[in-house]
Amino acid sequence: MIEAGRVAVVTGGGRGIGRAVAVRLSKEGANVAISYRSNDAAAAETAEMVREAGAKCETFKGDVASPEDVEVLVKVTQEAFGRIDILVNNAGTTRDNLMLRMKEEEFDEVVRTNLKGTYLCTRAVLRGMVRARWGRIVNVSSVVGISGNAGQANYAASKAGIIGFTKSVAREVAQRGITVNAVAPGYVETELTGGLSEEIKERIKAQVPAGRFGSPEDISEAVAFLVGEGAGYITGQTLTVDGGMVMQ
Ligand code: NDP
Repeated sequence: MIEAGRVAVVTGGGRGIGRAVAVRLSKEGANVAISYRSNDAAAAETAEMVREAGAKCETFKGDVASPEDVEVLVKVTQEAFGRIDILVNNAGTTRDNLMLRMKEEEFDEVVRTNLKGTYLCTRAVLRGMVRARWGRIVNVSSVVGISGNAGQANYAASKAGIIGFTKSVAREVAQRGITVNAVAPGYVETELTGGLSEEIKERIKAQVPAGRFGSPEDISEAVAFLVGEGAGYITGQTLTVDGGMVMQ
């Protein structure tokens, strides 16, 4: 349960998992600001869905890895809603390649978006949460940050980095009423994974005890739980949401 009137920022809220999170939190009564990188139409559609759920929505086009853009994202949200209680660091990207072929740009782009973006957004909202003595931060990692994955050394490093980041910040702010957790989705059907061949998809599905891929809504359930009022004693954790694929 989220207290009515809470304000959430969901990065990468235009499509996929971020959209499901934005809609889920709005159904719980939160007003939502979503950020996205380039897809205006998708972001407008998410905003419409949030408004249909009876909440307010602001959209912001910008790069989570740009300190200037993140500053504006936070300013726009503060101006619209007066506060930020919840941050979901969801924006993420992939540039898959085998290590022997991986270009420096591919490594940098993924680490920059996934890890540096998480750092910048967290830094930008944290002071307000400390002042309010209440906050919820959920960082979207991945099961490959735990298990590793051939062809995704850059992505797995960024997602493992997010887990270490989550634990460290959780320790720093635990006494201020702020929780910081990660969710680690397994394979979820979105545009991010849409490019994989049927053969690879079937191979992955065979490793999922639940026998199916995850949906964005499966992930949003976990996020809604972690940002809820009742989850205040859970911090520094990584919750895998993967149909049992990676059991810790
Ligand atoms: P999608 O590719 O469907 O959506 C990504 C979203 O992030 C889009 O809204 C996109 O904006 C936004 N985005 C990407 N780069 C940036 C950036 N630099 N600045 C701001 N916004 C950006 O991805 P998913 O929904 O599948 O993934 C969401 C998160 O979940 C990611 O962190 C991903 O790594 C993680 N994850 C996904 C899994 C899966 O199987 N799908 C599994 C495990 C983890 P725009 O729409 O404008 O392009």
